[in-house]
Amino acid sequence: MPAGPAPTGPQSITRRRALACGAAAFAGLGLRGSGSWLDNLLRLGGAEAPADVFKGDAPDDALWELWRRRGWVKEASHYLKLDRNVQCKVCPNNCLLAPGDRSHCRNKVNRDGMLYTMAYGNPCTFHIDPVEKKPLYHFLPGTPTFSLATSGCVFRCLNCQNWEISQKKPEETKDPRGPEFRLRPPLPPSLSYDELARLSLFPDDVVAVAGALRCPSISYTYSEPTAYYEYASDTCRLARERGLKNIIVTCGSIEDRPLRDLARFVDAAHVDLKGFDDATYRRLNSGRLQPILDTLKTYRDLGVWFEVINLVVPTYTDDLDMIRRMCGWLVENLGPDRPLHFSRFNPQHKLDHLPPTPVDILVRARAVARAAGLRYVYLGNVREVPDAATTWCPGCKRAIIERDIFAVTRLALDAGKCRYCGTPIAGVWNPPSRAS
Ligand code: SF4
Repeated sequence: MPAGPAPTGPQSITRRRALACGAAAFAGLGLRGSGSWLDNLLRLGGAEAPADVFKGDAPDDALWELWRRRGWVKEASHYLKLDRNVQCKVCPNNCLLAPGDRSHCRNKVNRDGMLYTMAYGNPCTFHIDPVEKKPLYHFLPGTPTFSLATSGCVFRCLNCQNWEISQKKPEETKDPRGPEFRLRPPLPPSLSYDELARLSLFPDDVVAVAGALRCPSISYTYSEPTAYYEYASDTCRLARERGLKNIIVTCGSIEDRPLRDLARFVDAAHVDLKGFDDATYRRLNSGRLQPILDTLKTYRDLGVWFEVINLVVPTYTDDLDMIRRMCGWLVENLGPDRPLHFSRFNPQHKLDHLPPTPVDILVRARAVARAAGLRYVYLGNVREVPDAATTWCPGCKRAIIERDIFAVTRLALDAGKCRYCGTPIAGVWNPPSRAS
């Protein structure tokens, strides 16, 4: 039987945590979300201490008013009111904020005893991407997906490739001054830098724009959708109503209740499993392993299609024994049909002194995964391996989907089955496959 993640010792309850528990119990806490106050008290008592937050860093009145007039603030969901303090319950960081404080993810503030998100309707970037770029290889192959992000992230990955937006405050990426610019169809042929800086894309705008651009799906990506949870949730809900699919590209660090609420509208997820060792997660990502494993199992239980991505970072997550344990866990808990993408690290952010992942390590990781029983294993950011992005039929062993970087060059599927032997291939293959 595959070994699980290395066990961690019992969690001590800090004095700060004990005070928070006491406050929650006796202050008549108000909860935005679900669960009784007793449930929440018990959860508080067994959880980690809240993450570091930015003390006194909420915007001043003038900026707040500009932001509010734009519609770029919304009361947060899933939070506790602890008298004048608030505690966010969206991710395991569980930020505890006094009035005037800003959250760990930089997007939420306590204003007068209420928790608000400042990342609503104000994406700092958007693009049309092939769905293969997420990467998702078993979900609507060859289709474009309208992809957007706001600032902010719940993690602090040393190797973050999007740190220019993920490690920024909303007001460092958007400008609330000047006339409003709201993007809606009919779309202008181009946007000026000034328009981009002031751009609003509220949920109904996102859905309308994605439709106008003939994208069958919307991807919440680049930074971390958990950090703009309210914006992503509202957009997902509306997109589902209007017949578009929703793709969540996430680190997977999210609490159970908000995950289940969001997942009702999610059609596919890309979940980063950044390693299989809690100490490495803390050191490399400022996160924890167990919440990610819980998220993977929840997506499995809810029947949401998802694929797993593992970035192989030299000296951090390139240990083949750890990769072997990880693959064993994946097979045992998610089954052999769950696609696994090993991705090549390139030097960046705080790890720009490390070399790129050697190709032979990635090839050996793929062999380990296949030996563990995984049927669909891919290598990303690798040009040197010809079949790095090829899907092989587990029945007849023939190549059934071939890709060149993000382009599908050959698709031999009929109604989700191998064209040669009829073996069903796990994934979401609707609309009908194109002829190869
Ligand atoms: S979503 Fe943001 S505010 Fe909420 S707990 Fe996580 S880091 Fe803190």
